Amino acid sequence: MVCPPLKRYRLKTYRGSARRRFVYSEESGEAAIVKFCVLASGSSGNAALLATENTCVLVDAGLSMRELGKRLASIGEDPERIFERLDAILITHEHCDHVSGLPVLARSKKIRATIHMTHLTAPAIDWGETAPGRLETFQAGAALQIGDIEVQSFTIPHDAIDPVGFAFEAQGVRIAIATDLGYIPESVKFHLRRTDLLLLEANHDLDMLKVGPYPWAVKQRVMSRVGHLSNLVMSDYLEQDLDAATCQLVLGHLSQQNNHPAIVHMMATQALDGRGLHTRLSIASQHTPSAVFQF
Ligand SMILES: [Zn+2]
Ligand SMILES: [Zn+2]
Repeated sequence: MVCPPLKRYRLKTYRGSARRRFVYSEESGEAAIVKFCVLASGSSGNAALLATENTCVLVDAGLSMRELGKRLASIGEDPERIFERLDAILITHEHCDHVSGLPVLARSKKIRATIHMTHLTAPAIDWGETAPGRLETFQAGAALQIGDIEVQSFTIPHDAIDPVGFAFEAQGVRIAIATDLGYIPESVKFHLRRTDLLLLEANHDLDMLKVGPYPWAVKQRVMSRVGHLSNLVMSDYLEQDLDAATCQLVLGHLSQQNNHPAIVHMMATQALDGRGLHTRLSIASQHTPSAVFQF
């Protein structure tokens, strides 16, 4: 797969005002403190990379190890060292678009990363012959410390055993991931506040879903409160709840059949414009990594 040239951004912090302000400029060549990239997003596979100078975390493993290696190399990571560099693999839930590559990663001798997921999620995964030795489970809602990255897990409404989203904080930068959720409860909104970068689901256009190819039972599941977030619910969230401090919004987990990036872009832009927000908008793809967002 040929990946497009990467756009690299730097977010500069100005501390003169009461509130931190981030301004984008071209990559200057300095080492970034915190990097985030959505390697894949959608019902065929999900993975994201969060890295500081000292710590490297993979969120979800819904790509084969080979494809993961290709995508990591395409964003400038050394393919020989990247798997060794991983400190942790965090799993949101057991659906195969989030864990299909995990059993192979867990058995690989190249990988020393500890695998983290909730107590209830671990037994729901088909590990093959043996469960991995480097598995650590946590209670949904618990906080973890991985190197210099603080991780806060939070329960999301989705039809998996014990699904969670994650909010990360490193070097004063907050990044949150909330995909695979039927709606956005207040408890989730709480965890999405004060994020510098938010990866939020925009799964389907309701009209496209209703007339689309899915069987009625699947349509009902997707639309339910434990299904996936529609463009409408996403844009309502942007209009009413998105924190003005969020300088980068990434919309992801778009349905290939029941959505289109142009619709997502239009609805999100309208919602952001309606609030007078200058939040940067990016739409994550199933097929190619996002830009590498650097803070
Ligand atoms: Zn998913
Ligand atoms: Zn799911």
